[in-house]
Amino acid sequence: MIEMDNVSKSFDQRDGDRFQALSNVSFTIREGEFVSLLGPSGCGKSTVLNLIAGFESATQGTIRVKGQQISGPSADRVVVFQEHALFPWLTVLENVAFGLKQKGYGKKERTELALEQIRAVHLSKFTDRYPHELSGGMKQRAAIARALVLNPQILLMDEPFAALDEQTRLVLHQELEEIWLRTGKTILFITHNIREAVMLSDRVLVMSTRPGTIMKELAVRAARPRDSADTVLNAVERSVMEHLAGELEKVVKEEMGDENYRIKKSAISDRTFGGMGSGI
Ligand code: ADP
Ligand code: MG
Repeated sequence: MIEMDNVSKSFDQRDGDRFQALSNVSFTIREGEFVSLLGPSGCGKSTVLNLIAGFESATQGTIRVKGQQISGPSADRVVVFQEHALFPWLTVLENVAFGLKQKGYGKKERTELALEQIRAVHLSKFTDRYPHELSGGMKQRAAIARALVLNPQILLMDEPFAALDEQTRLVLHQELEEIWLRTGKTILFITHNIREAVMLSDRVLVMSTRPGTIMKELAVRAARPRDSADTVLNAVERSVMEHLAGELEKVVKEEMGDENYRIKKSAISDRTFGGMGSGI
C-alpha cells in the first residue's frame, strides 16, 4: 500500500549548509495495517509523514502508494495533526462537513455524512459547539471525524494524542482501534510514546536520529481488541526499551568517553523518549 524505498531527505539551511533529516528510510505498509513510527523528537517522523502526505518531496529514493509514485497531496491520504486542526470559526458539524463542501456535496448529503462520522466518534451531543468549547479529547475526535468523512484509504496521524492527558488518551486509543477495526483503513501513526505505539499497532518501526533512519522493526502479535493486561504487549514494550537502552548507551559512551557506562532501566521506564534527552 505504502512503499518507502531508500528515501533520504535534506533541507537547505540558512547558513547555506544542507541538513540531512532522513537517510535511507525503507519500509512497506500493507493495506489495512496499523503501523506506528516511534522515535524521539526531531528524528524525522513528521518529515516521513509529510513525504507520504505529498507535502514535501524526497531528495533521494522513491515513495509509492498503491504502486504509484506520489506527486502531491491526495484526498486518499488524509492527515490528522496534534492540534490546531479545526477551524475556530466553524462548529463541529461545519468543521467535519468542510471537506465535503469543498468537493461540491450538497448541504443535505454533507450533513448526513458528517453526522455519521460525528456519531462514530461519540460527539453527537456537541455538533453545534465551536472548537474553543470542546475539551482536548473532543477536539481530536472531531479532527478524526473530519478526516474520515472524506473516506480516505490511508490515515496519516502525526502525534494526534500527544497533547492529551493520560486518561483521555486511553479512551481515544480504544476509539481509534474501534474505528480501525470497523473501517479497515491503513494507518500510519506517529508517536514518541512507546506504550501507545505498542498498544495500537500491528507493527512498530523504531527510528533513530542524526539522521533519521529505521533502526528496528517489531511485530506486535497480540489479540484485538487490545487488552492492556496482555503479556504480549508488555514483552514487546520491554523489547523496545531494551533496544533503546542499547542505542542510548552507545550515544552516552561516545559523549562521555566511558566504555563501561550502563543505562539504568529506570531511566527509560516512563515509556517515552521524553526523559531520555536528545541523545538518541
Ligand atoms: P520529528 O517529527 O521526529 O520531531 P521532524 O521530521 O519535524 O522531526 O524534523 C526532523 C529534523 O529536520 C529536525 O531537526 C528539524 O529541525 C528538521 N527539519 C524539518 N523540517 C525542516 C525544514 N522545512 N527546513 C529545515 N529543517 C527542517
Ligand atoms: Mg513531528
